[in-house]
Amino acid sequence: MSKTIGIVGLGLIGGSLGLDLRSRGFQVYGVSRQARTCQIAVERGIADEAGLSLELLALADIIFICTPIAAIAPTLKQLIPYLSLNTIVTDVGSVKTPIVQECSQLWDYFVGSHPMAGTAEQGVEAAQKDLFVNAPYVLTPTTTTPAIATQKIEEIATLLGAKIYTCSPEQHDRAVAWISHLPVMVSAALIDACTSETDASVIELAKQLASSGFRDTSRVGGGNPELGVMMAEYNRENLLRSLSLYRDRLDRLIQYIQQEDRDRLNNVLESTGRSRPDFLT
Ligand code: NAP
Repeated sequence: MSKTIGIVGLGLIGGSLGLDLRSRGFQVYGVSRQARTCQIAVERGIADEAGLSLELLALADIIFICTPIAAIAPTLKQLIPYLSLNTIVTDVGSVKTPIVQECSQLWDYFVGSHPMAGTAEQGVEAAQKDLFVNAPYVLTPTTTTPAIATQKIEEIATLLGAKIYTCSPEQHDRAVAWISHLPVMVSAALIDACTSETDASVIELAKQLASSGFRDTSRVGGGNPELGVMMAEYNRENLLRSLSLYRDRLDRLIQYIQQEDRDRLNNVLESTGRSRPDFLT
């Protein structure tokens, strides 16, 4: 197996990959935007060597691009002069279709991927060991992706303890719209609706009474706004489709409650109770 890895973007995901790959015997070269990040990465054992120039990755057999989504394809363009003919390049972006479309045009040995692990923290300090253990690692090859590229990334993700899934970029984006991007918008709308209460004493009381139910349902709507904006920008069609189907379901519930249709309301709630475990296996 290839033993020399390059990582661009030494933040939460890139840094965590570096920690795990070094502990499994890989030589890791890291590139990031800020010199301070590179220094911390070496001090923390994320990379054997780290610097600001992509030239540092000329010896890498496999390169992980772990920058914010907007910088992934531009980074690959800048990397190309330093790549050997068969260097495998992957990314970790949370949306796949636009990235894979652009990057697979730029580099034959590109395979899109998405390790579905994270924390609420960002940056090199947030990097942690074993972040990917038991987490889904989705590979999104296209019909033209060389099998060897997919196979090598799968081997590495398996070494990290992740669970491998393979699908098209389009299927990935449609699926994550349901289980990741829609919940952020629904949860944000929930918090927003609560703050529209006009009676100051009621809203104060509600804040004091809020407990585990509100904590669970509001958590993803109270996070980093950049992530929500990124989802809306890069997975717009799928997110809009999920949101409008969600609005239909809300309208249906409103209708049953207005009509005091206890049986239908009960049927929906029984059915959602049966379906939920299927999403949490
Ligand atoms: P992050 O902690 O902010 O790390 C990104 C790092 O990239 C920053 O620390 C920054 O390093 C560096 N960077 C930014 N622009 C760069 C550029 N042009 N060239 C080189 N380095 C650059 O973010 P993250 O959470 O790791 O997310 C990175 C990627 O992982 C994103 O594409 C995201 O979609 C994906 N992802 C995130 C999660 C999650 O839960 N957070 C989960 C799965 C996948 P400096 O400190 O040097 O500026």
